[in-house]
Amino acid sequence: MSGDYPKAPSKQAATAFFNKLSKLYTTHPLDVTPDDPFRVLVGTILSARTKDPVTNDAIARLWAVARTPEGILAIPETQLALLLKPVGFYNAKAKNLHSMCEMLINDFGGEIPRTRDELLMLPGVGRKVANLVLNICFDIPAICVDTHVHRICNRLGWIETETPEQSEFALMDIIDEKHWATLNRVLVNHGQQVCNPVSPWCSRCLISAQCPKIGVKTSR
Ligand code: SF4
Repeated sequence: MSGDYPKAPSKQAATAFFNKLSKLYTTHPLDVTPDDPFRVLVGTILSARTKDPVTNDAIARLWAVARTPEGILAIPETQLALLLKPVGFYNAKAKNLHSMCEMLINDFGGEIPRTRDELLMLPGVGRKVANLVLNICFDIPAICVDTHVHRICNRLGWIETETPEQSEFALMDIIDEKHWATLNRVLVNHGQQVCNPVSPWCSRCLISAQCPKIGVKTSR
């Protein structure tokens, strides 16, 4: 790691790095189509602790059977869990999906709410899920911080944080609002393809020369 890299880079520098990366990654690895907010919501919930291809397959299996809150509620919970398997925590996620569908029908008229506070009321929905739905479906600026965004932004020295929630608020000061919606797409791709959790491919990274590689012990 270079010793002269500023601990808190300027907004301009962070945006310059981000612009360089954003040209590389134009699609989200998670199958999220903005015209179906319910699918984005369910897909993002299922994606926790699960690789994107596994999540995408599970969503395709589920959508072949049901694609509305009423339809998913009609599937018995044990059968729903088997449809979701092998996504991580498929039993708990099946239970949460049922509770969420019930709440959507009873409290929101079967529609997906358009505010963070309302989305956070839904079982299984945290800030990461709520922010991605707001971004992708409703074009509302929000920073969706998952494990990749949290790790990479700390390695880059853009922020110095312990938790994804801290990262979300710290990144609001560093990244221009017009980029908030695409930050997740860009850094999830970069995290999966180059800046891996263990031994990142720094030799292949477009921004290696400027990256202080904070906390990186081994790289390729
Ligand atoms: S791959 Fe290496 S150089 Fe690139 S962002 Fe990650 S730590 Fe920095």
